[in-house]
Amino acid sequence: MNIDLNSFEREKAIDETLQMGGVDLGLANARVGSAIRLDGKAVKSAGVIALTGRLSGSVELDCDRCLEPVERPLDIELDLEFVPNQRLADKANVELHPDDLKRDEIDGSEIDLVDIAREQILLDLPHQFFCMDDCKGLCEKCGANLNLKVCDCEDNEIDPRWAGLQNLN
Ligand SMILES: [Zn+2]
Ligand SMILES: [Zn+2]
Repeated sequence: MNIDLNSFEREKAIDETLQMGGVDLGLANARVGSAIRLDGKAVKSAGVIALTGRLSGSVELDCDRCLEPVERPLDIELDLEFVPNQRLADKANVELHPDDLKRDEIDGSEIDLVDIAREQILLDLPHQFFCMDDCKGLCEKCGANLNLKVCDCEDNEIDPRWAGLQNLN
């Protein structure tokens, strides 16, 4: 789904459902939900395209502790600016405005919304994700999901790292 920047004079409302089922986030532990909604607008001003709005939908993340996949709702506020790279090239002899460096360049006259959504979703992902705050994770010995069952491994053996401490008692 692309926005053709030549298709509007000044402002274009965007109300799209992006089909992202086949989009790869490039991460083993995260998958994007199939339909991501983009609600917002693109505004052209002095050669800069501002894209504001909201991305909503969901991503499926694997819990860092128990590895179970969990659906995580997305609600990302967009406040982006794009500069056609031709404009930057035109300004090669002019001093670049510092703001230009913070803006994303785009090739040609289209903005690829799926590409933008993918990038924003990646930026929004937490560094760590747990299915619940007190997820018990997997047993290191037998691999059992300790949220679902209690295995016998832990009680029977003392981690060698703690064995020394126990002698202090
Ligand atoms: Zn978990
Ligand atoms: Zn176990």
